[in-house]
Amino acid sequence: MSSSQDSPRVESPPVTHVPTPERHRVLIIGGGTAGITVAARLRRKGVHGVAIIEPSAQHYYQPLWTLVGAGAADIARTVRPEADYIPKGTRWIQDWAEEIDPVGQQVRTRGGLRVAYDFLVVAPGIQLDWDKVAGLREALETPYVSSNYGFNLAPKTWEMIRAFRGGTALFTNPGTPVKCAGAPQKIMYLAADHLRRTGLAARSHVVFVSAGKAIFGVQPFAQILEGVVKRYGIETRFGHNLVEVRPGQREAVFAVTGEGQQERVTLGYDMMHVTPPQSAPDFIKASPLAHHEGPNAGWVKAHKYTLQHPDYPNVFALGDASDLPTSRTGAAVRAQAPVLVENLCAVMEGKAPTARYNGYASCPVATGYGKLLLAEFDYEGKPAPSIPLINTLEERYDMWLLKKYGLPAMYWNLMLRGRA
Ligand SMILES: Cc1cc2nc3c(=O)[nH]c(=O)nc-3n(C[C@H](O)[C@H](O)[C@H](O)COP(=O)(O)OP(=O)(O)OC[C@H]3O[C@@H](n4cnc5c(N)ncnc54)[C@H](O)[C@@H]3O)c2cc1C
Repeated sequence: MSSSQDSPRVESPPVTHVPTPERHRVLIIGGGTAGITVAARLRRKGVHGVAIIEPSAQHYYQPLWTLVGAGAADIARTVRPEADYIPKGTRWIQDWAEEIDPVGQQVRTRGGLRVAYDFLVVAPGIQLDWDKVAGLREALETPYVSSNYGFNLAPKTWEMIRAFRGGTALFTNPGTPVKCAGAPQKIMYLAADHLRRTGLAARSHVVFVSAGKAIFGVQPFAQILEGVVKRYGIETRFGHNLVEVRPGQREAVFAVTGEGQQERVTLGYDMMHVTPPQSAPDFIKASPLAHHEGPNAGWVKAHKYTLQHPDYPNVFALGDASDLPTSRTGAAVRAQAPVLVENLCAVMEGKAPTARYNGYASCPVATGYGKLLLAEFDYEGKPAPSIPLINTLEERYDMWLLKKYGLPAMYWNLMLRGRA
């Protein structure tokens, strides 16, 4: 007779608990300008089973940060609860997407959730690479350096400009793509106008220190902005890329590319507005959805006209994280979102994507208090005015009002609701 103690023990295999992923018809990564606009439009089209992965409890209207930095708008107008803009019936996964598996059609989040999808929309925006400039974080702790590229910093820009009593004011522009390519210079024109109004212009030396080659990439706007630069007596230094800030000495170091060789130039400052280098979010760079080499390395691939991923037809991308060869702006997103939604719905029904995005982007360049040049253009680099009857190839007061009041209202009430 054997006892249970004598019988050989059968070891059961260790139980590894792999939770079944939740599954959604459409999964959107990022609930910023692009993600929410797409979600709202999908809802209006009656698409069910939509989820958004978005870590932030707040939604920001970033274009107004330029006016906040110039003391012309209140920062409180630029933020609202994200929950108020997640469309009804859409699941909000409040977490960071961390890994995308387009073959297994799954996204893993930082919190360890696995989320499966039938269709994926990639819209996590752009990453601000503050640490790529040595000493920048420390410099931002001082009263003499700020940036409109952060919600917490934009109000400080205005404190810095207000406290400036003359000397050298630097405005930098990095060598990477940035969101709103005009933003690094808009704040400069507003600061220069403020110095003129407060009688400090004669004691001030304003310098635009840019890694780029020209003031603006699209004619005839570039020509108009050259005139603005001249009007304020601004010095421009192109081919200068900020690489280091020495806050103790109030010095900024630039890598300058000249005739085939690089040198370092150090400029002193009494105030400096920095636009940080920017790139695709790191998890995007590492994903199979991104380019891994060439000039577009890191950005999500999206067909220039249809916004569909060239390798994974159930994936679409838009906004700042995409490789679309246009200016990274909310205005571009407004033109991309309806095209993406139309094409996504077509593909969901087994049809070909036929809607086309023409590269429309717009950059409202504030050139002074009460003055704004509305630069609108397309893939061809041609002006693409969207407002009939008025001449937008000039600095205008009505366009300033549009930027300050009209566009924010349109954003919160229409665009994010899928109505514009
Ligand atoms: C100072 C400044 C001035 C500007 N001026 C203008 C202007 O005048 N006109 C204009 O049209 N545009 C302007 N813009 C640009 C505009 O704000 C952006 O181009 C637009 O917001 C891009 O939309 P997006 O959805 O791609 O990115 P965002 O709106 O930035 O949204 C990205 C979202 O993804 C989320 N996210 C990030 N990582 C992850 C992750 N791992 N997982 C999930 N979610 C993630 C973020 O939390 C964020 O909510 C300006 C921007 C700045 C900073």
